[in-house]
Order: sequence, then structure tokens, then C-alpha cells
Amino acid sequence: MQKESELSFHIIGRFKLSGSITEMKEEIGLVVKKANMELLKRGAPKGCGAEIVKWDIDDDVLTVDIKSDRHVRAHDALLRLRKPLANALGKHRVGIRGIEIEKFTIQVPTEGPFKEFKIPFVKHMHHKDGKISLALEVTESHIEDKIPDRIITLIMEKIAAQHYGGKDEHWKLLWSSKEKAPKFTGDPTQELINRKWIRHFARGQWIYGPQITKVFRAFEHIIEREILNPLGYQEMILPKAVTWDVWKRSGHAKAIYPEMYYICPPKTRDPEYWEEVMDYYKITNDIPLDMIREKIGAPIGGLCYAQCPPAWMFFKGETIADDEFPIRFFDRSGTSHRYESGGIHGIERLDEFHRIEVVWMGSPEQVIEGANKLHDAYAHIFNDMLDLQWRRVEVTPWFMAQEGLAGKAENEGVGTTDYEAYLPYKKGWLEFQNVSINGDKYPKGFNVKLQSKGEFWSGCSGIGLERWGAAFFAQKGLDPDDWPNKFRKIVGELPDVFKFL
Ligand code: ATP
Ligand code: ZN
Ligand code: MG
Repeated sequence: MQKESELSFHIIGRFKLSGSITEMKEEIGLVVKKANMELLKRGAPKGCGAEIVKWDIDDDVLTVDIKSDRHVRAHDALLRLRKPLANALGKHRVGIRGIEIEKFTIQVPTEGPFKEFKIPFVKHMHHKDGKISLALEVTESHIEDKIPDRIITLIMEKIAAQHYGGKDEHWKLLWSSKEKAPKFTGDPTQELINRKWIRHFARGQWIYGPQITKVFRAFEHIIEREILNPLGYQEMILPKAVTWDVWKRSGHAKAIYPEMYYICPPKTRDPEYWEEVMDYYKITNDIPLDMIREKIGAPIGGLCYAQCPPAWMFFKGETIADDEFPIRFFDRSGTSHRYESGGIHGIERLDEFHRIEVVWMGSPEQVIEGANKLHDAYAHIFNDMLDLQWRRVEVTPWFMAQEGLAGKAENEGVGTTDYEAYLPYKKGWLEFQNVSINGDKYPKGFNVKLQSKGEFWSGCSGIGLERWGAAFFAQKGLDPDDWPNKFRKIVGELPDVFKFL
């Protein structure tokens, strides 16, 4: 792993002043001396910190050359100098106009090979002799905004990612049901198409006919009866067009781009502005995509991806009374959308899918208990009602995976359990739902507090209806006679409709 202690920084900054300081050499010398002894070492262990190694006056410009370790980073040292300098210069009625950064390099140690890449504000990057050297192009205000520090964090993440890159994401078997003899061994999507239960609509999108819809509703009925009602979950309706502010807080803004569906509003509502598009279509019967591209604004966000993040906007900035806890709610008010990687994925991997999202919040104990109750209820459903061959596995927490991270959560108890079902036709497994304990990530990200100021955690569980269907049909087929009795009763008679010639 990366040892941050070996980071080193070198910055050359130019203080632009409101007048000449040629006569003030001695005073500046004193400021530098004092800073090197005290100010640039403050907060650092003995022998560590930053050091002004050179300085120079040229009329109304003071140039300082600072080297440091990670304890007082050179760019922070540069900012620390503003105050004592201003005090000294002020006596001569000279002020600081600003600081220009002439040169800024950072060395980050790394073991093993490292692939260079492009980062904003980094002019160039070289990897040599176990060190990555970065040359930064930043301004004083970028330093104030902590951009150099975030660049370092990012590099550290990339180093870590390149180290575990190639390795599989975290995966550990927790529990497995008995093997079950399948009633069906075909590809369920193909069978659904053959029987006209579904029809392909567009990329990763299907139209669900009355029969499969009835099965989905039976799944929902089971979820209501076995989980939502007895465990006290309240229904909410969450937005499905999700704005950037949500994804900035949830962490999705770090990595969602290749998989999200973007939402762009028109640049104006004025029909006249759009008239040429309308006319073009009327004349050609073609949609003038390039013309439209010109007339729509930048994306305001994207279609629902993970379902629970917008819920947190309901609680954002609030302090919640302790006796409100645990809070429990669910959403099933709309579709989720992901631009999945290509290929045929049937109803198992969709660009538009239906999911019931279950969310609970409370103290760590309450959240862990909430997850355990769900696990028990799910086990009852999959064993006693749907009779599935399934297993539970511990995987990289979804909130980390969706930020582009791998590995495990640092916090004990925090993490994601995937539920996987066996697909006889593939001789492989499919994640059909999950249960996640997200720790304090969301309360922190959305600034929600607990009255008692105690630890505040949350969890969520995404129940994918199509995935339940894919798992169930893959093992049991489409013939209700082959379905477990309990489930058949809940489904009732399948409608016999829509015969095509
Ligand atoms: P996968 O590894 O299969 O892509 P994921 O890890 O991306 O799944 P999550 O982000 O954990 O899935 O989403 C939670 C649940 O949402 C899944 O367990 C599944 O039921 C459902 N889901 C996610 N992506 C899809 C999809 N493309 N099509 C259908 N259901 C999906
Ligand atoms: Zn969630
Ligand atoms: Mg996925």
C-alpha cells in the first residue's frame, strides 16, 4: 500500500505587492526565519513540516521557494505566509495583491507499475524510479479550494485501483440453499418471447404482457405481505429524474457517467424556437437529431439509477428525533435506467427495469437488526414460497462499487450482501437483489443528524422484479403447473389473451 508519509511537495510562489519592497530585505528575512522555525512547522511532528528554502525580492514581487513533506503541505505553507507578510508589509503601507504560482510539483511514491493518465490541473505526470512526479498548474484560489489535495487523494485512489485492478471484486459466500432439480433448463427470455409474454421494445427495454405482469404483481404482493407490512415500511414516492445535486451528495457523481441516461431540457419553451425542427420532421419524416442537439441544454442530471439517493433530499439538513427511529420506507413508483454494456441480456440485464427499493435508518444496532430481519424474511420467501436455489454472498458495498471503488468497507458491519440465483440454462448465477448496510455514508452526504448526536446509519435493499422473474422462470419455467403451490395460489389464473395470427 501507499505510504503517504513519503509524499513531497515543492512550490515556487510569487507574492505580487502594491509597492516596492526593495528596502525591506531585513524585515522579510525575519518573517522567513520566524516562519521556518514556527509557522511552517505548526501541527507537524518534530523535524517535519515545510521550509522556505530560498526567497528573493524583485521590486514589488517577493518570490518564495518552499519544500515540504505531507505534514504542512508546501501549498498550505504558502497560504500561511500571507498573514505575517501582510503584517510586516502593512507597516510600510504595502499590501499583498495576490500570489502567482510559478512552479508546483508533487512527488507521490508508488510500488510496481503505474499507468499515467490525464487529470485536470496536472500539466504532466511522470512515473520513474518508484515515484510519480506531478507538475500542477493551479492558482491561489485553487489552492484555497483544496484542489491540489483532492488531486493527491485521486492519485492515491488510482494507484490503489491499479494495484487491485485485474483482481476480482470482493466476493465471499455466506450461505447457500440446497441444490434444486430444475423444472426447466431453457433460456427464460426466449421462452417468454415465444409465448408472447414479453415483446422487445428498445435497447434493454421490453413490454410486459398481462401474464408476466400478473407474476410481477404476485411478487409485489408477497413482498408487501411478508416484508413491507409486517416490518412496518411506509410507502414514499421518489423522483425518477435525478438532478446532479443528489449524485454529488450520494457519491454517484464520481463514476456514474458511462452508465447513466442523461436528461436534457429544451433551451427554451418558445414554440417558434422549435419550429424548424417541427417543419423538418413534417417534410422529411425524419427526426432532425443534429438540429435538436443544438437546441437542448446541458443535462440537468439523469434517470433514476439507484433509486434511494433522492429520498435523502427529503431528510437533508434535518435533525431527526431519536424516538422517530428506526425510520423505514420503500419506493416502487417508477423505473430505473442504466446504459448497460451491449450484447443480448434478455430480462436479466435491462436498460429499464422495475425495482422495489427498501430503505431503513437508525442507530448502527437498529440498522443491523433491520438488515437481519430482511434476510430472514427473504429466506422464508425464497425457500418456502418460491422454492429457489439461491445463495447469499458478501460483495464490494454497492455505494463503493458505484463510486468506481473495489474492495471492502472499512467499517465493521457495513457492506452489501448480494442474493444470487442459479440459472440452469447458463450453469451460472445471477444477482437478483441485495441488502446493503451503508453505514453513515448517506446521513453524512446529505447532512442529516440525530437529535442525540449518536451514530446514524442507514441501509437499503433493491428488489429487482425482472431479476426475480429471471431467476424464477429460469428454474421453474413458464408453466404454472410446475410452480410451487403457494406461489401459484398467489398468482391466480393467468389471463389467456392477445393471440396473434
Ligand atoms: P449487476 O452486478 O448484475 O450489474 P448491480 O451490482 O449493478 O448488478 P445494484 O446496483 O446492486 O446491481 O442494484 C440493485 C438491484 O437492482 C440488483 O440486485 C438488481 O435486482 C437490480 N438491477 C440492477 N441493474 C439491473 C439491470 N441492468 N437490469 C435489471 N435489474 C437490475
Ligand atoms: Zn439503495
Ligand atoms: Mg450493474
